[in-house]
Amino acid sequence: MGRKLLTEHIDVEGINTFEVYRKHGGYRSVEKALKTMTPDEVVEEVKKSGLRGRGGAGFPTGMKWSFLAKPEGVPRYLVCNADESEPGTFKDRHLMSRLPHLLIEGMITGSYALGARTSYIYIRGELLYVLRILEKAIAEAYAAGFLGENILGSGYSLDLHVHPGAGAYICGEETALLESLEGKRGNPRNKPPFPAVQGLYARPTVVNNVETIAAVVPIINEGGDEYAKLGVGKSTGTKLISACGHLNKPGIYEIELGVPVEEFIYSDEYCGGIWKGRDLKAVVAGGSSVPILPKELILKTAAGENRLMTYESLSDGGFVTGTMLGSGGFIAMDETTCIVKNTWNFSRFYHHESCGQCSPCREGTGWLEKVLHRLEHGHGSMHDIDLLVSVAKQIEGNTICPLGEAAAWPVAAAVRHFRHEFEWHVTNPKEATAPGAAYRGTAVLA
Ligand code: SF4
Repeated sequence: MGRKLLTEHIDVEGINTFEVYRKHGGYRSVEKALKTMTPDEVVEEVKKSGLRGRGGAGFPTGMKWSFLAKPEGVPRYLVCNADESEPGTFKDRHLMSRLPHLLIEGMITGSYALGARTSYIYIRGELLYVLRILEKAIAEAYAAGFLGENILGSGYSLDLHVHPGAGAYICGEETALLESLEGKRGNPRNKPPFPAVQGLYARPTVVNNVETIAAVVPIINEGGDEYAKLGVGKSTGTKLISACGHLNKPGIYEIELGVPVEEFIYSDEYCGGIWKGRDLKAVVAGGSSVPILPKELILKTAAGENRLMTYESLSDGGFVTGTMLGSGGFIAMDETTCIVKNTWNFSRFYHHESCGQCSPCREGTGWLEKVLHRLEHGHGSMHDIDLLVSVAKQIEGNTICPLGEAAAWPVAAAVRHFRHEFEWHVTNPKEATAPGAAYRGTAVLA
């Protein structure tokens, strides 16, 4: 049983209230940081911990913090990205609704480290019930003297606000989020300048995911070196995985990074195997935007080694035989799943969510959806399969923000690993479009 750094007390009754959270050691990191550490020392601990961004990109958090420009007399901001919208990912809402004070504690400690006097939690608009929980918890933190003027008599002051988005996936991209927070349409910005130099209101800003900010709490409590002892290699600490799809026990698991994928899927401690006694066909390991892998490649790397739940192991083989840990949105598909239909479904989502600023994404996501619709509905040709790969290639690397790649990679990977299934849709249109039809042949290993 791995250690639980974030969710150890998640099932304690009343843990969403300040009183119970405090009784279980809550806000110790704020006391330690504000009373015994300088802001730079807090940043140093986060660096030592090896914590990497838990929203998807996996960039080292301490390094991101140290990039923040610090011109004298200019406000700086910490913004929490709580716009969790990636299909297959539902961990942050769980953390915020059950442990709102954990996020608030991380926001206070993180804001102190960065020298922010006003900070924001930008939350997905659909999560109104979570917003209410956070607002209540923030009011409790103000009443207890952990927010507002002169926190704990330290001379440090902080105001914390929660701001709801309006339901656009693209506002999970950090610069689109900042535009939206400023009251504008949530369009991603061209970079540079990066938010660390010109972010919210053109001031230096750090944007971090909910889980990343929550992880600062155990890092400061236990020390960066202790945190770094958990995990494997450069994948340190614990990670929340939201597991869904055809599993016996879908749910949210806090795992120590380094658990073998096979153990995560099949052991009773985690997902308990594939439902209805069926076989596993494929996995999307890190949210809908990462490449899909067939069973053979998600359990073992191309070199035959056990695939681990780490940033490095999951990406072993690059995008030829690997994928990404991403946001931890783990989608398992059994042998009855139609990969063409699934890919079409993802493409519909990205086409709908493209903000339309750049042509390769605006037009390309539309083409991907149209061609996949043809193939799924029995009107496709062999040329269409190559057309998908060609369009995906033309999107990749040619857009303002990563939504382009998020739309292109899943399609390119689906064709790479399941080309036989796409071809079967062309050669057997009647059979392929029958209700519940799915190709049962072997996946094509790259
Ligand atoms: Fe908008 Fe897509 Fe361009 Fe991102 S890649 S800026 S979502 S059009």
